[in-house]
Amino acid sequence: MKLNFPVDQLWNQVRKMGASERAYSLDVSPPDPLPDIVNRFNEGGEEIELKDVENVGGLLSSHGAQIVLYIPDQGQSIDEVLEDGHRGKKVHVADCVTLEQMRQRNRFQRYQAIVNTSGDFDVFGFSRTKSKPEEGVARLRVCINCLKHLNYKGYVSSPSQQREILKQFDLKNFFAHYSSLFRYLPKSFIEKKGHYADNWKEISLRYRERKNFVCESCGLDLTQHKALLHTHHIDGNKRNNNEINLQALCADCHRKQPLHDHMYIKQKDMALIQKLRKQQNILGDATSWDDLFALIDSSFEGLLRLYQKQGSMKPEIGYEIIGSGGKVLAQCGIAWPSAKYAVVRSPEEKKILEAVTWKAVTLEDALRGFRDRK
Ligand SMILES: [Zn+2]
Ligand SMILES: [Zn+2]
Ligand SMILES: [Zn+2]
Repeated sequence: MKLNFPVDQLWNQVRKMGASERAYSLDVSPPDPLPDIVNRFNEGGEEIELKDVENVGGLLSSHGAQIVLYIPDQGQSIDEVLEDGHRGKKVHVADCVTLEQMRQRNRFQRYQAIVNTSGDFDVFGFSRTKSKPEEGVARLRVCINCLKHLNYKGYVSSPSQQREILKQFDLKNFFAHYSSLFRYLPKSFIEKKGHYADNWKEISLRYRERKNFVCESCGLDLTQHKALLHTHHIDGNKRNNNEINLQALCADCHRKQPLHDHMYIKQKDMALIQKLRKQQNILGDATSWDDLFALIDSSFEGLLRLYQKQGSMKPEIGYEIIGSGGKVLAQCGIAWPSAKYAVVRSPEEKKILEAVTWKAVTLEDALRGFRDRK
């Protein structure tokens, strides 16, 4: 990745060093306490009607949490499903065309809304071989219409890519990929500490100090936001603290490292990183497509790939709409400032943009637009 490295700022920061330091932690801000209903989604799930499921950025949501939907009742197929979960009914992770058809036909279907990062689902049915009710746990497969709808990791690009993404699909990674869109993250995301050397905090702080609190991947200066700069172990061994095995990475570049798919980021932290990248000219109208893919909030990555495939003009990411008095009104996921057109997270942001004469579309509507065009 070729990015401008802000040398002047770096020296400014060197001079400013010695400023107060916050404790290092993996999770940069304390988790919000989960409401009861969200707790139930995390523990076995809760029955839900399709009409009560919200669409957030093309994904499924209820009460501020990201959920997935599945059907516990596998009917008379239960024997085959318990033997091989791939033969069971599929798990929906997005507001796909299948769910849309279900809604349109007004088909009554009992779905279970669940926050499941393990991939193992409780199922039941009626065993034909035993002539009695049967239950158990099955590794159900994800619905391919859902992956297509989101263009998850560029799913639509080629059949071989599709096979690979399906083979590698992991719910924990999937939840982390879209973490910036949701208020409540899965309970299982609360990181286990341990594994680290006892003096890790000190090692990490000294290392980041030597790197002047600048991300070694995108060049972002985080002197003022040190908790957003992590110390990464290149070989994955958290006890190998040899300097050549360490790398200072901002929370966004860190989660995009190989085998870090499970690393999540909070909405406000991602927004702050994009804001700072803008201010420090890491992001701007000259950013190349490759760098856009490296720097975009992964919640918008599938859509950005669809725009590129369609031959769209190169957009800007993390673009801020400034109102009168210099106040930031909204941060757009994807924007074409010269056309005053942007893709935003929510209907509320869309209204804000329209009030200042921009045209805006929500992430979910933009994805649906691509889907229905085919
Ligand atoms: Zn689906
Ligand atoms: Zn970075
Ligand atoms: Zn790491």
